[in-house]
Amino acid sequence: MHGFSSQITFARTFTKKRATKEIMRFEEAPYKELVSTVGQLPPETGGLLFGSRDDYVVKRFHYDTSGSRSGASYDPDPDVLNPIIQRIWEEEGLALIGWAHSHPRGVRRLSGDYGNGVGDLGYLRAIFNALPNLEKFLVPILYSTNNGKLEIMPYVAYRDNVKDYREAKLKIKHAPQKPAFAKKALDAKIDKSVNPQLIANTKIFAVGCGGANNIYENVFRLGLGHLSVMDFDTVDDSNLVTQGWYADQIGKPKVEALADTFSRLVPFKHDLKRRLTCLNEDFLALDDQTLIEQAGDADLLMFMTDNFWAQARGNRLALKLQKPAIFAMMYERAQCCEVSFIIPGVTPSCHRCAVSNRYKAYLEEGYENDVGSEGSLIFQTHLLNSIIGELALAILHRDLPEYEHGAWFDKNKGRNFLQTRLNPKYDDPYFTKIFGNEPRAVCFDSIWQNIEPECPPKYKSCPDCSGSGDLTKAVIDSTMVKLPQA
Ligand SMILES: [Zn+2]
Ligand SMILES: [Zn+2]
Repeated sequence: MHGFSSQITFARTFTKKRATKEIMRFEEAPYKELVSTVGQLPPETGGLLFGSRDDYVVKRFHYDTSGSRSGASYDPDPDVLNPIIQRIWEEEGLALIGWAHSHPRGVRRLSGDYGNGVGDLGYLRAIFNALPNLEKFLVPILYSTNNGKLEIMPYVAYRDNVKDYREAKLKIKHAPQKPAFAKKALDAKIDKSVNPQLIANTKIFAVGCGGANNIYENVFRLGLGHLSVMDFDTVDDSNLVTQGWYADQIGKPKVEALADTFSRLVPFKHDLKRRLTCLNEDFLALDDQTLIEQAGDADLLMFMTDNFWAQARGNRLALKLQKPAIFAMMYERAQCCEVSFIIPGVTPSCHRCAVSNRYKAYLEEGYENDVGSEGSLIFQTHLLNSIIGELALAILHRDLPEYEHGAWFDKNKGRNFLQTRLNPKYDDPYFTKIFGNEPRAVCFDSIWQNIEPECPPKYKSCPDCSGSGDLTKAVIDSTMVKLPQA
């Protein structure tokens, strides 16, 4: 009975030892050194691994230039290595814990024991004999990139039976990264104007990544929490002069070119994934369910496209989701630009109420846009972008009067349509009426118009917001704009 139970105990211990896979841990620097030497050179080179015999984490790699290399086998030379092992112990307090070397592809296992410490197992036996306190030894074998893919067999050998070495799991301990810059210092520069914490918690869903790309860039500089940006267009040659892209980005989807820029503005590279979603898709081709998933958790929607249909769908999407939204448009020859915005619960009218004449032209008179971005220089685009960026911040801070960008709309709830003259030659009776012509020359002036919600008797009811004066009451089924019934 006694003998039986002790047998069980033995069996359990044995099973446990076998079942737990050993982990071979490298710090990043010695791992990189190993890979850039032995991992690249022709096979049969090697080096020593150093660390503490308490945890066997490899902290130091010494590439061995001395081993006899016949091209078919590599045997370390103890006369050369022993003084090095001694020195590293004395100077750095690191003990010998392993030996890494490369094999020709196909020779996966350790070689045998050919006597006198020759052959991999022979060398291991010699090591265990020379170091009586050594219980295990790391003996990874590498296939180098010299003739194929890098492969590492992370073997661990044990004193009790060197032949019974096992394959461990390789883990690289990455050194903690240093941030590229201190976000705190950035926040301190802007925290009177905006609330950095609020911006860090803000999500924006944006359609259109052409001329507007630098709005996103600059909101990102402020520390924006997350941007989802949609555009199916790619960077072409002309975009370098009009939109501020670079030659090496030609042919790239614009949303991915934007990711390039963003990657240079994050403290850590891995932050980018968390803070940017690139949607290389056509806003007008997606179904409502997809859009609701993509934009549903945003704090602000931005429709930075001169496509009428995209803006029109955007207005309905914003009302359906009950989100603030901004719409922008450059006029002919970039002489003037417009920005409209809606904030459910604040602005009484919607984007459709603001530009109902445009809806009429497109929906009832078959108008097609022939303005486009022709003639817009980047200066004009950036002027418009700055206005959009300012309004975006003001919308986000609308309930925080203590900030410069707070409480902009308290006295101007109805003023959600803004036009800015970009050229003194722009001839528009509305600007003339307000600013006059003489004796001053007027340019870069803006009119922030009050927009009436469209409802009877003065107007037909706005098909998007109904013109009730309360956007929270808008009922939207499909976000697609319906053409009027014939
Ligand atoms: Zn070998
Ligand atoms: Zn409306």
